[in-house]
Amino acid sequence: MSERHYLDYNATAPLRPQVRAAMLDALESGGANPSSVHAEGRHARALIEKARHSICEFVAGDADGLIFTSSGTEACNLALQTHLAPAGKIGRILVSAIEHPAILQTAATSELPVLQLGVDSSGQIDLTALDSALQDPTPALVAIMAANNETGAIQPIAEIGKMVRAHGSVFLCDGVQALGKMPLNMQTMHIDMLALSAHKIGGAAGSGALLIAPHIEIKPLIYGGGQELRRRAGTENLLGIVGFGAAIECAAQDLLTIDALAVLRDKMEAQLEKEMNRQKLAPLHFFARDIERLPNTSCFAIAGLSSETLVMALDLEGIAVSAGAACSSGKVTASHVLTAMGVADDLVQGAIRVSLGWDSKPADIDNLVACLTAFVVRQNQTYKDSQLIKAAE
Ligand code: PLP
Repeated sequence: MSERHYLDYNATAPLRPQVRAAMLDALESGGANPSSVHAEGRHARALIEKARHSICEFVAGDADGLIFTSSGTEACNLALQTHLAPAGKIGRILVSAIEHPAILQTAATSELPVLQLGVDSSGQIDLTALDSALQDPTPALVAIMAANNETGAIQPIAEIGKMVRAHGSVFLCDGVQALGKMPLNMQTMHIDMLALSAHKIGGAAGSGALLIAPHIEIKPLIYGGGQELRRRAGTENLLGIVGFGAAIECAAQDLLTIDALAVLRDKMEAQLEKEMNRQKLAPLHFFARDIERLPNTSCFAIAGLSSETLVMALDLEGIAVSAGAACSSGKVTASHVLTAMGVADDLVQGAIRVSLGWDSKPADIDNLVACLTAFVVRQNQTYKDSQLIKAAE
């Protein structure tokens, strides 16, 4: 393959070399069953506990409260099984309108009533609506993500956690996209349950975790053996978990210099705007740009151009980005996130997401800016030519 520029970290971050090395080590050491009492089993158990410790330490979680899962999606599904809040039996679910399908679709299968909370035009949750929903004395399970996967919009998590706790409800935070890109702290943010995933930070897909506070009772999704303190049966995914632990250690280091990613992202946005203006091309519409957002994410649309066309054109130039709402089937559907923000339909259809990460370089964004501008120029010329032909006919 010719030189590629991967700018789709929010879909999956490339496997980090340190993760690959740790996983290979675990594989070569035999990969025994961590429940076995022999030396090989004890070694596997030690590797799992080391990863558990690293993850808990990074998000200030309780070591007895970490349940390894197969994905962030499974972690969200498991969390939505919780039935007891400090104020009593959970009788309803509150979700933000911009949650990932792992929350929205799962909540929709619950027998409990589900109330969706809206967001403003920047993609931030309406705290007044949350406050008034919390006045209902029925304890709620409140699911609000730390940061959005499409726009990068960050929610005021500590404030939300405080409000939810004050009403004796339970706060589930989907931290899948936020992990490693902003600080996440279960204690100071008052998070009762935190869903995480390894492949968004350079671990391997197939490994996730749900962290729960000591007062949370969880009903398992999977029954069988006594693994994960009887909360998730099945022999642990040793390699995936080891990779997750190694990825967390790298992400913790990267977080110290994460502002550099925001500098790169902001430079890309500024260069794109400059080029579009210079060539007198259609204006760019950036989403969630006026609020706090993840340092690695940029979501924007160019009026009149569909996201499918843009994603394919860039792919042909060696650049990997996503449509704003590329779903797991690979189809592009109208983004429920942008729709909830009140974005006009034609822009929703044209949104693309550029997301950077641990291996992003200035050359990646320079190529993106050059190729995108050249493509829009070509599209404009084609449009002008077709108008001339029409006029001549
Ligand atoms: N939550 C958010 C915000 C996500 O972005 C994703 C994946 O895109 C998930 C949950 C699901 O994580 P996983 O891919 O590990 O199932």
